[in-house]
Amino acid sequence: MSRMSLKIKLTILYTFFMVIVTCAALLILFSLSSREVLSSVQTKLENRVQKSVEDIDYKEGEFVIDNDFYSVFRDIYLSIYDENMYFMFGKIPHGFDENPGLSDGEMRRITDGGKDWYVYDMSFRIDASNTVYVRGITSVTDAEESFAVTVRFALILFPILVLATAIIGYRITRRALMPVRKMTQTVKEIREDADLSRRIGINGNEKEGDEIRILAETFDSMLDELEKVFEREKQFTSDVSHELRTPVSVILAQCGETLSCGNLAEKDRDAVLLIRRKAEETADLLAQILFFSRADQGRQPISKEWINLGEITEMAVEEQKLLLEASGKDIDIFYDPKPELYAEADETLFIRLIGNLLSNAVRYSRTGGRIDVILKKSGDEIVGEVRDNGIGIRKKDMPKIWERFYRADPSRSEEGSGLGLSMVKWIAETHGGWADAESVFGEGSSFRFGIPVKKK
Ligand code: ADP
Repeated sequence: MSRMSLKIKLTILYTFFMVIVTCAALLILFSLSSREVLSSVQTKLENRVQKSVEDIDYKEGEFVIDNDFYSVFRDIYLSIYDENMYFMFGKIPHGFDENPGLSDGEMRRITDGGKDWYVYDMSFRIDASNTVYVRGITSVTDAEESFAVTVRFALILFPILVLATAIIGYRITRRALMPVRKMTQTVKEIREDADLSRRIGINGNEKEGDEIRILAETFDSMLDELEKVFEREKQFTSDVSHELRTPVSVILAQCGETLSCGNLAEKDRDAVLLIRRKAEETADLLAQILFFSRADQGRQPISKEWINLGEITEMAVEEQKLLLEASGKDIDIFYDPKPELYAEADETLFIRLIGNLLSNAVRYSRTGGRIDVILKKSGDEIVGEVRDNGIGIRKKDMPKIWERFYRADPSRSEEGSGLGLSMVKWIAETHGGWADAESVFGEGSSFRFGIPVKKK
């Protein structure tokens, strides 16, 4: 029951109550009606018997019986008996073979021939010394049967009525709950596409709309507010990064100039070099933040061209090798270039993607480590892999490494901002591709991505 939708639950609930109320109403109605039917049969029988005396005449020892006496009106049979129970005139219904004793003015119910009968006797004094009895007989079973037809009709109608109530009720509930369905759908879409511009789009106002519609409207206006706040925040990040870029460039330029003087003391030189390194890192971080703020605002330019991803990867690998040489780190990078790995992609973005994966592999490798870079065509995609035998990633950190600013273990490396992998994912997905990772803590990691050859 708890897994059923609200529509179904409500429909079952009121159909159940509807069945109970209707059953109770029908029971009361039937029991009242059945009593009513029987008492009306009795009254008719009594009246007919009392009136029948008008059809009986007794003149000079002879009975003159009117034809009306013999007619079976309203299913009532009339007959006349003398005081000794001797049948004189009239009609007895077929199937009523019993001949019960006379009982003046008493309504009796007698079963005979598989049927129930009402028998009513009434004495009638024809002269000073003679009395006859008029007997009226009518079938109770016939009267009950005609009532049973009504009951049967009601019993057929009842399930139809219940079904109709359930269907109509279901449709009404469905309609009433439609805004809830739309709300759920909208929230899902917002979550999946990270798009706050979605709205439920049901108009209701406090006078016309029901409570759920008003809730949907309130929800939409809350989304309006949220979207404005997020836009403001994105704009703020973008503005701050822009503003900070100028002073950082000035610091870098000044560092360059100071270093080029040549007459700096060793200690001062080291200090300026440190300032320059930190300023470069800050410039790099600002560039990444600007990248994401442009991406979030849909302003990150993407110009796809038919480019050789193999060639770009080769260049990125060579660049990393030079950096390694310069830094004196003992790490080997292996790449077996394959010709003609063309795809429709943005060159700058792809350089960032492969560059981030390579610099991560170097950053999290150990001395004497090995990095393997593989790029190949698989179906209608170019699939790449950067594999290292470095420090690896803990299982619990795996789902979070793609989040912005997330760093699994910041103490392991001073460098890095926690933005590299989110950028890799964003770039791959913007191209209609994907990115994922596998890692064994302490043994190494493998990062894979796919870029469709042609725009989907
Ligand atoms: P960072 O700038 O810290 O490298 P990333 O977004 O590139 O940020 O990576 C997020 C985190 O994922 C890193 O802080 C690191 O803990 C982990 N990580 C990324 N690449 C590797 C790798 N090749 N080996 C081990 N850990 C990695």
